[in-house]
Amino acid sequence: MDLNKLADALIPDENVKPLDYYETLFPERDLPKGAQVTRLAPSPTGFMHLGNLYVALANERIAHQSGGVFYLRIEDTDEKRKVEGAVEVIHSSLKYFDVIFDEGADLCGNYGPYYQRQRAEIYHAYAKELIKKGLAYPCFCTEEDLEKTREYQTENKLLPGYYGEFAKCRNLSEEEIYANLAAGKPYVIRLKSQGDVEVKHTFHDEVKGDITVTENNQDVVILKSDGIPTYHFAHAIDDHFMRTTLVIRGEEWLSSLPIHIELFKTLGFHLPKYGHNCSIQKVDGETRRKLSKRKDPEASLTFYREQGYHPTAVKTYMMTLLNSNFEEWMLKFPDKPLDEFKYSIGKMGKSGALFDILKLNDISKTIMATLSETEMYDFLKSWADDFGNEAQKSYFADKDYMLRVLTLCMGIGGKKRRKDFVCAKQAMEMIDYFFDSTFAPVYEYRFDKETVKTILQGFKATYVYADDMQTWFEKVKAVATASGFATDMKAYKADPTAFPGNVSDVAEMLRIATTGLYNTPDLWTIMQILGEERTFARLDKAVAAL
Ligand code: GLU
Repeated sequence: MDLNKLADALIPDENVKPLDYYETLFPERDLPKGAQVTRLAPSPTGFMHLGNLYVALANERIAHQSGGVFYLRIEDTDEKRKVEGAVEVIHSSLKYFDVIFDEGADLCGNYGPYYQRQRAEIYHAYAKELIKKGLAYPCFCTEEDLEKTREYQTENKLLPGYYGEFAKCRNLSEEEIYANLAAGKPYVIRLKSQGDVEVKHTFHDEVKGDITVTENNQDVVILKSDGIPTYHFAHAIDDHFMRTTLVIRGEEWLSSLPIHIELFKTLGFHLPKYGHNCSIQKVDGETRRKLSKRKDPEASLTFYREQGYHPTAVKTYMMTLLNSNFEEWMLKFPDKPLDEFKYSIGKMGKSGALFDILKLNDISKTIMATLSETEMYDFLKSWADDFGNEAQKSYFADKDYMLRVLTLCMGIGGKKRRKDFVCAKQAMEMIDYFFDSTFAPVYEYRFDKETVKTILQGFKATYVYADDMQTWFEKVKAVATASGFATDMKAYKADPTAFPGNVSDVAEMLRIATTGLYNTPDLWTIMQILGEERTFARLDKAVAAL
């Protein structure tokens, strides 16, 4: 059979150039020894999973720490999964976490195009080459033919797939092929696998260590009937021509590794190093399961932005999952930037990484407590601009006021920084009582109405805005004494039944009246920030509500 003629008949692409052309167009990269070229290769589905950030961080760290290149390739061969605007989502979600690509889709770079759909010519060139060498062939099997084979294999407990005796089109004669073409039958191009499932090899996975890999014997599809490559074929060609040296990807790809090994070999390409990292899991009742896009809102990267998690917090938490020695490093060098941590592929977990939002929250509180009030202002403002409601946006109209609120609520200038803020959304809700537009108190006192009323009115009668903290407190004590509340804590402790309560109960009533809350930072300062007029208005409102 004239295989050159067959290749032209099957893939009539006039743009195809001789293979050398591509080797020259995409030369080996001029990088220092040991530099790694890594990539993120998502499909443009519009959904960014936490696992995408996980893999992106590992690849980014390894590339940049080795003086290499980290690039973005869009694997858009599956039209059904493609969503408009998905690439912007990829860029914006990763940019939020400061994961920066050196080159790739919608960026510059000499190894593009970085969209697989724009690389048809290269895939066609190599598919033709394989046909010419007798290493690929057209398959005219219909969906029904394949379904029949599947049923037979299931009934007879045979390995599924298109291989051996089930690879019906593998040995079609020249006449049969041209007759099918003349009849206009649709066809795909399949690899003519040379592998044998009885043969096993040891393969060094960069994350999992040495693993046993069975040879591939499947005649996998390399070009679909519309001439678009499959992921397997496209990624092999792309990783070769983009000069990828290391692929860290999810372990769901481990089962395809035999196909990829064979494809690289058949194409005559050097196989990059692979590391398959474990999936992110969570505890669900008694069991552990994969973090699910469907069930778990925290599986989506959007969740972290909507909640307003500080990017450094999420990144730091991801690093604790990614590298087993990271936490130790973080405790030793709490002030060093993350990028100074020496990321090591060998320290990546071999089994599932357990996602624990409480731990993330803990890390987040600590990171939030390292911000200055102006940094917090900027951070909250940018969250509010994107996700806040109109009232929350209006909090930023008076910058000075907001800075005073934040200074107090973050404990800046105090003995110890407060760690109340977990994320922007929660922080904004925590400070809403400072703003009349969102001040919606539900007053719940532990004392009867009459007592509360006497206390509030008594305080109101003596409150002077200009009083310093000491004077203010003396007045609170005086109001307490007037209603029989203890101000001497020793006396109170000796016989609590002798008093209706003590001075802290009085302060609690004032606090609830002013803020609607049981727990707040220092009340005198709150009143200072609220201002005289607003403080009086709040006391009046509280009395009126009794
Ligand atoms: N396009 C694949 C995905 O969507 C990428 C797999 C790989 O990194 O090789 O996950």
